[in-house]
Parts: sequence; structure tokens; C-alpha cells
Amino acid sequence: LVSRKWRVRPTVLDLGDGVRIGEGTLTLAAGPCSIESEAQMESIMQHLVDNDVRIMRGGVYKPRSSPYSFRGLGMEGLRLFHQMARARGIKIITEVMQVSQVEEMHDYVDVFQVGARNTQNFNLLDALGGVDKPVMIKRGISGTLEELLSSAEYVFSGGNEKLILCERGIRTFETASRNTLDLNAVPILKEKTHLPVIVDPSHGIGIRDYVAPMALAGVMAGADGIIYEAHETPEKAASDGAQTLNFDESARLIRNLRRVYALR
Ligand code: PEP
Ligand code: MN
Repeated sequence: LVSRKWRVRPTVLDLGDGVRIGEGTLTLAAGPCSIESEAQMESIMQHLVDNDVRIMRGGVYKPRSSPYSFRGLGMEGLRLFHQMARARGIKIITEVMQVSQVEEMHDYVDVFQVGARNTQNFNLLDALGGVDKPVMIKRGISGTLEELLSSAEYVFSGGNEKLILCERGIRTFETASRNTLDLNAVPILKEKTHLPVIVDPSHGIGIRDYVAPMALAGVMAGADGIIYEAHETPEKAASDGAQTLNFDESARLIRNLRRVYALR
């Protein structure tokens, strides 16, 4: 169902208020790795509004390698996130980690994110097949593209056709970067499926200075959009600060992404 053999026409998702994802538009989503506070959201939302970015990312349920790391503000954070975003015309993408969260989060998100660690959480995928909100599925940490497509197939076959695929880097033998952003995935997925493909260069390379070049490369490779981490003070971020852009870096990247997209 997610293949081009089933549907030739590219899938375009409409989030409302003129925000669309897919063929014909460059989707930009930026924001902190984790939602931390009202003040933090205030500053990033102002940055997004100033730069005409309509989608904000930010986790309230965080899959952390260590149980002692910051694990997110949960529903309390999401309710505030939602209230503040609504007031500014910003759409929300945030990670759902388990089946029980789907219902409680439903009314507060615009796009559910399935994280790399949950790409093959088939119960979660089944549950998301039953909702009427878009779902962005990230590629598994050691996942093949075929596995990513199978995960999308779970949601699609469950009845939810509002899907986005996200290349976020894979684990390889290379240790110079956090992950290896597999840009091969972009043209391959674009050819195999009708779904929008988004690149996450923050997790893909994991090093702030290299996020922008990889984001630009992702767009040139044919991605429908870029999702990356941004924060007013990345060095103080509760998670993933090392791969998070400050507002100057973010504003420059946004300008360059739009230029590069126009060249395609
Ligand atoms: C995130 O988006 O902050 C995140 C945890 O991403 P991933 O699932 O790709 O590691
Ligand atoms: Mn992160």
C-alpha cells in the first residue's frame, strides 16, 4: 500500500491552516530535542514565527539510553506546548512511545512521531493505524529501508494513510559521528513509495557544525523536508545539545534551505 505500484500520485498531507507536507512544498520542522519549560518554548516559538517555520518539534516523552537522563515533561508539558503553539499558529510534532499514550496525546498533537527505537513496536504501529492524525515514522537505528517501509505498511493497512518517512541516520562502524546519515535513503524511498520523505540531520550526524551541510544535502537529494533540533542556548539543553543549532545558525540554515529547494 505504501509503494508506488499501489499509488503513483505522491501523498500530500494537509495539517490545516495552510500547512502541507509532501510534493511541491519544502517542509521545515525545528525545535528542541525536549520540551523543557514555558520560557524555552516562548523563545523557540518566536524564532519559528520570525522565520515563517510552521511546525515545531519537541519531545515530552523521551527515549533515553540512560534511565538517569531527563525523560521529558509528559502530558503536562504537552498540554502547555499545545496551548502555546495554537496561539501562534504553529503545528506540533512529538514522539509517542507506547500504545497507552496514543489516546491521551491525540488531541494535543498534529503529527505523531514514532522514534527510531520504536520503529518496530508493532503494537504501537497498529494503534496509530487507527487514528486520524499524521504519523512520522523514523528509520530504526539499525533498520533497513525495507523494514521502514514495512513499518509504514502496518499503519497504512490499519487505515491511517497519513504517513511520513524520516531518515535519521543509522548505526555503522563509523565513530566520527553519532550516526551515519544515509542520504541514499532519500532517492530510494522517493522512488519506492508515494509517501513524503523527511531528513533529520541532527540525529543523522549528531554534531552541530555538520547539521546544516547535511540538511542542505538532504534537500538536494530530494527530501520533502527537514526536521532538526534548535534551542536558544543549545549548551544548556536538557538533551541532544551537541547536535542542536542556536537561533543564528538555525535562521541561516532556513534561508539556505529555501534557496537550495528553489534550485531543484
Ligand atoms: C528525537 O527526535 O529527539 C529522537 C529521540 O529521535 P530518534 O528516535 O531518531 O533517535
Ligand atoms: Mn533528540
